[in-house]
Amino acid sequence: MRLIAAAALALVSTGTPATGAPVSTARVDRVAAALRQSPVFVDPDVSSLLNARDRTALGRQIAGAGVPIYLAVVPLDSDDESAGDADYFTYLLHRRLGRNGVYVVSDQRGSLDWTSYRVPRDDTLEFSQVTNGKPLPQRLHDVIDAFAHAPAAKPSDPPVPDAPDADSSGKKPTNVGLAGQFVKTFFSALAVSGVLLALLWWIVAVVLAAVRGARGTATRLRPRRLRRMAWAELVRLARAIGAAGEDDPGYPRAMADYDAAKLLWDEKQDPGSRFAVVVLALDGQDALRGGTADPQPRCVVNPLHGTAARRVRTALGGLSRRRQPMCEDCAKASRHRPLALVVDGRERPYYEAPGVWEKIRGTDENLPEHVLEYLGVE
Ligand SMILES: [Zn+2]
Repeated sequence: MRLIAAAALALVSTGTPATGAPVSTARVDRVAAALRQSPVFVDPDVSSLLNARDRTALGRQIAGAGVPIYLAVVPLDSDDESAGDADYFTYLLHRRLGRNGVYVVSDQRGSLDWTSYRVPRDDTLEFSQVTNGKPLPQRLHDVIDAFAHAPAAKPSDPPVPDAPDADSSGKKPTNVGLAGQFVKTFFSALAVSGVLLALLWWIVAVVLAAVRGARGTATRLRPRRLRRMAWAELVRLARAIGAAGEDDPGYPRAMADYDAAKLLWDEKQDPGSRFAVVVLALDGQDALRGGTADPQPRCVVNPLHGTAARRVRTALGGLSRRRQPMCEDCAKASRHRPLALVVDGRERPYYEAPGVWEKIRGTDENLPEHVLEYLGVE
């Protein structure tokens, strides 16, 4: 029942993202009004993040960028109109302002997010280009600069983000609530149109198929199973290396993965390290299987799903919102539950495990190098 209800909710939130609990859009109205006057808006509550000189300089830079850019520096919290989700705030802001452009949003911590609405420039800007510990004005400068010099591309609309719900503000919807929602949705769908109903059942079928398909993959790893898995994958990689031989194009990467994984196995026993051994060993096997020194990153939601099919812009709890590598199923899903490790009796997303993941988190390239760096080996 819960599954079906979740599917029904997904349908509701995908189709009409702005409906649901009434939220005040007063702030969005205010920011939009200000952006009509000037492309740089800084909320008074976070005015210390950008001084007058920075604002003027950024405004001038935007004027010369050759593409419309709107910059808003605002506090984002779980109890505001966007539930602290920069992507959703941008969606509301664009809808209110009604202008095409690159919308750049910084929150009170200086975390940056940007969305391009029908701007004829390539927007596949990597976060690493602008998030390398520089002060906020400099990073904003870099983002604007990157868009000013980005290669031409066909203008496109970004996907409509899901409306934030009770989940993202930390409150869990009850089963009764979900079921009630489902009944309401179900009957209104019946009343409104048969097409909607057919669509609903199709989504239910897709969700059920996905669940059936995913049943074989762990979603939570306890220390003992993690240890067994790490060792098994390490042995599997060693065998694959032996079978492939030095001439295989994937050999150097597989060896680098093996070396890093073996060192990590020998030196650290915490759950995060154990799982990093798993991911390294899988990465090495991917390199050999694909005959490449640069294998596709694994699905960020759960590396055990396999290699990524594409990158999808998402905000996984605890990771900054950016384009993340995902397997086909996760790329299609509207909600993601990251693989959890049991650390000191508590479940947490694997990338939030203390230790080596603090080094790896947010990067999906040169995995073995990051691990060696973490271990202090050069
Ligand atoms: Zn996945």
